Amino acid sequence: MTMTAEREAELLEALESVAWQYGYRTVRDGQAVLMARPDSTLEYVWHVLGWADPHPVTEFQPCPEKGCRLWGEHRSAKPDDDRLFCYLHSGDNDRGETEASNATAN
Ligand SMILES: [Zn+2]
Repeated sequence: MTMTAEREAELLEALESVAWQYGYRTVRDGQAVLMARPDSTLEYVWHVLGWADPHPVTEFQPCPEKGCRLWGEHRSAKPDDDRLFCYLHSGDNDRGETEASNATAN
């Protein structure tokens, strides 16, 4: 069976959307990464895509809160702050800072 380049690109795009939907989003060494988790189906998707696990993501930066291992995907509630935070630290920033400093103290 021969496959057109168009069809192959479509299949890879579909697999990539599976990876983004079900992959585990975290931060490793200050880099936002997408991981296959211990999931054999996702590991197969990673294999076909030719991705390393963890897969470095350039579309997102880590949440700027110290010690946070989530992606910065949400704009801060503060209008003068244009950094992107995780869902935990984007809204209630005062509580987030307290939690982060507690985590650092431990
Ligand atoms: Zn955060």
